[in-house]
Amino acid sequence: MNAIVIFSAFLQGLGIVAVVVRLHEIIVTRCGGAFCERCAVSATFIAGVLVTMAFPLQFATGIVIDLRHVFLILAASYGGWPAALLTAAAAAGFRIWEGGVGLEAGLAGILISTAIGLGIAQVNKTRDISFAWLGVLGLASSVSLASVFLLPMDVAMSVLGTIGLPLVLINLIGVMIAGGSLNKYRSRVVREEELVRDTATDPLTGLANRRAFDVKGPEMAAAGLEKNGRYALVVVDIDNFKGINDAFGHASGDKVLRQVCDIIAANARADDLVARYGGEEMALVLPGCDLTRARNLSDRIRASVEAAVVEIKGIRMTVTVSVGFTVNDDPDKKFLKVFEEADAALYRAKDAGRNRVEMALAA
Ligand code: GH3
Ligand code: MG
Ligand code: MG
Repeated sequence: MNAIVIFSAFLQGLGIVAVVVRLHEIIVTRCGGAFCERCAVSATFIAGVLVTMAFPLQFATGIVIDLRHVFLILAASYGGWPAALLTAAAAAGFRIWEGGVGLEAGLAGILISTAIGLGIAQVNKTRDISFAWLGVLGLASSVSLASVFLLPMDVAMSVLGTIGLPLVLINLIGVMIAGGSLNKYRSRVVREEELVRDTATDPLTGLANRRAFDVKGPEMAAAGLEKNGRYALVVVDIDNFKGINDAFGHASGDKVLRQVCDIIAANARADDLVARYGGEEMALVLPGCDLTRARNLSDRIRASVEAAVVEIKGIRMTVTVSVGFTVNDDPDKKFLKVFEEADAALYRAKDAGRNRVEMALAA
């Protein structure tokens, strides 16, 4: 068996790896999310392992070279244990279906790579698989060569002597290329997710910003109306905030603002929208929320802010907020109109002396 034959088998294997990585990208781009990414790894690695096993380089009867171990060793790190087990099951199923000489050695090899892949994924749990870890995985993918000793000794020695070193190199390069491509794709997805998040987030408080509120607010209101027939809108404004800025400086004002926003967010549920829609004005959209819960939540926010220990430059002080809220069950009423009603209630709370909760007259 000459080097050219082995090299062409290697190129063919790499072609399969490239197609699998691209296929994985296409699937993930269509659906997105960590779960989808894991499903995409499972589906594409199963396809990859089956295709590479279907077009192997025949070394001797039942003894072949292919890039199955690249997929088997990487599956756990990129797709978790389900991807590893599914890829292993597909490879083992195919090998059993093929049958013939070298079946035990083939199955043992699949088992070894899967077990090592799972072990390495357990040790290196981060989502970012470094170049060094890829090297470890690449070398580990050849440990499965030990399975040739299940063959008669003379055959085993002949296999190792002829294809041992090329196979180690093929596996190493295959893993580096496949892992490198998956990493590059992953970091692009993470960067895009961060960009999307940043454009919707207020950097000072971590709450949704005005842009996100304007888009998501009406959407969540409509969802609340459709599912539960109503939604609540709560607006919160810090009392005499200008005075805090004037007395202690803008940076101290920022600190107070962050603390108040943390309190507001802590009182909301995961499926509520909490946004900073103006300077020291926050708004909540609560899908499905009725008057009792809206009032309780508004009271709780007001009381929690008043009770919080706010320390600026060593001085402990009390910060208060005024709150206006409303509940809308009329699908024909515009979100903006509902917002104005809650805002009008907030201004009544201010007029009545601040540190108060007022319900909208229309609610
Ligand atoms: P009221 O009780 O009527 O709401 O009085 P107020 O002083 O809170 O309201 P006013 O609208 O007069 O002032 C709001 C202040 O909030 C003025 C502005 O400088 C400050 N502000 C707005 N955004 C920020 C911010 O991001 N950081 C800081 N530190 N201050 C801000
Ligand atoms: Mg204010
Ligand atoms: Mg204000």
